[in-house]
Amino acid sequence: MTDPFFQPTSGMDLPRFAGIATFMRLPYVPFDHPRIGDVQIGLFGLPFDGGTSNRPGPRHGPRQMRDLSTMIRAEHPVTRLRPFEAARCADLGDAAPNPVEVNDTLDRFTAFARRLKSQGIRPLAAGGDHLCTLPMLRGIAAEAPLGLVHFDSHTDLFPAYFGGKTLTHGNPFRAAVDEGLLDPKRMIQIGIRGTQYDSADRDFAKAHGIRIVTIEEMFARGIPDVMAEARDIVGTRPTYMSYDIDFVDPSVAPGTGTPEWGGPNAFQAMQVVRECAGMNIAGGDLVEVSPPVDPTGGTAWLAVSLMFEMLCVMVTAL
Ligand code: MN
Ligand code: MN
Repeated sequence: MTDPFFQPTSGMDLPRFAGIATFMRLPYVPFDHPRIGDVQIGLFGLPFDGGTSNRPGPRHGPRQMRDLSTMIRAEHPVTRLRPFEAARCADLGDAAPNPVEVNDTLDRFTAFARRLKSQGIRPLAAGGDHLCTLPMLRGIAAEAPLGLVHFDSHTDLFPAYFGGKTLTHGNPFRAAVDEGLLDPKRMIQIGIRGTQYDSADRDFAKAHGIRIVTIEEMFARGIPDVMAEARDIVGTRPTYMSYDIDFVDPSVAPGTGTPEWGGPNAFQAMQVVRECAGMNIAGGDLVEVSPPVDPTGGTAWLAVSLMFEMLCVMVTAL
């Protein structure tokens, strides 16, 4: 039964360039809103880039992504799925970061994710840099480790940078495995490429049984074949989907801090998510969109289009 409150504002009623921008023109439902208990999938921002090791900027991602997301319409072009009728979705606002304290921000984001979990809301977050994924997993995977389908040009499995235990956007998944938040046997990382400092990430993956699919393998085998393997690896149990926009070739998605050449085009970028249909997606995020590097908004427009694809997969798992 479609709930009229949770329907996005249609461009037929108010032009899509008008009004206050929320994710996909959904109602804004913060935690103190009377309808918060009815939300099934919550879209929200994680405006933090304190884990960025090179060019910063993703702290500005959620605002630009909200703006561009007003271009999204209600019906999927291929499946004809109408996700906002199939599930009650809302914009929950942003989790509040502390822009000068990494660990404090991680604790705040973890508390936000825990609150979602206790309300039965599945998260679909807009980053922020990739370190923002770690507190999401700390919040929703505390009781049982999740599977992971991860699109990225980097594994983000590197040891601590700068000595010590420093967390960055280069190691959230290593930390998540070490903390027991992800089941390494149910992890697949797709699109990996680019120069590296060393092979410490590959060694970690090998030691734990994490499946890495390089971009060379993806193009050689084809996306449907690789994604069939991904569905086998994650199985039917709850799985997190994490999408780093630098998975996409920088010719189409230049607005990111650590671009790597030789990636998928925009159609292929959407296709990999469509091929996740049937996975039990407990939560997801789209990270590393950096508006200062692409003020045109083209990268953000692709990113929110990918979030719509992710949402359509999440809805079918409810
Ligand atoms: Mn990443
Ligand atoms: Mn990356």
